[in-house]
Amino acid sequence: MRIKTARFIISNSEVKKCPQSPLPEYAFIGRSNVGKSSLINSLCNQKSLAKTSSRPGKTQLINHFLINENWHLVDLPGYGYARVSKAKKKVFQSFITNYFRERKQLISAFVLIDIRHQPQEIDLKFIEWLGNNEIPFALVFTKADKLKPQAATRNLEQYKEEMLATLWESLPPIFVTSSLKGTGGDALLAYIDELNQLFRESSKF
Ligand code: GDP
Repeated sequence: MRIKTARFIISNSEVKKCPQSPLPEYAFIGRSNVGKSSLINSLCNQKSLAKTSSRPGKTQLINHFLINENWHLVDLPGYGYARVSKAKKKVFQSFITNYFRERKQLISAFVLIDIRHQPQEIDLKFIEWLGNNEIPFALVFTKADKLKPQAATRNLEQYKEEMLATLWESLPPIFVTSSLKGTGGDALLAYIDELNQLFRESSKF
């Protein structure tokens, strides 16, 4: 799938104000500065659809974008950034957890992880929370261009081992991307396309 059109629809902090449309949607989330805006812009072939900012933690809203007129991409606030106020810092803000619990249109979350780092507790906690709440997700490693292939593979393996050693019986789909080089996006979009087709078959559109 190629993204031909991508258009901003609405930003808000309440799940009940999200678009009422039954279109399938996919939510992108990760720690602040993980490269989420860059990835969204790269997937959509646009320079500034999602805001890339030098001040992490700035996008504190649920942002809906309509893609190819037939699915929603959702840009969620980055979690775990230390400079936001204490109340905001509450690791996973309730409007985010409400979004995941209540949003029936959500087909899959994409949890973004900076490939340069060892598994971080906050990311592991978040994916554990998704698992406990039976929310489907895939892992998207970002900034792959910043490591040599060998180091990238090592970090990836470490992540898989960490997951399998804890609560997980099997691994979720995993994508390795670089927004700078434009790699990994095609596989991610092909996966979304596949899920959209399954969704449409099951809901007899
Ligand atoms: P966000 O806070 O998760 O939306 O992160 P941004 O997209 O704003 O990116 C944070 C920083 O990482 C910026 O300085 C980006 O230029 C940089 N960045 C994002 N993606 C990549 C990537 O694939 N490769 C490299 N080398 N840098 C990246």
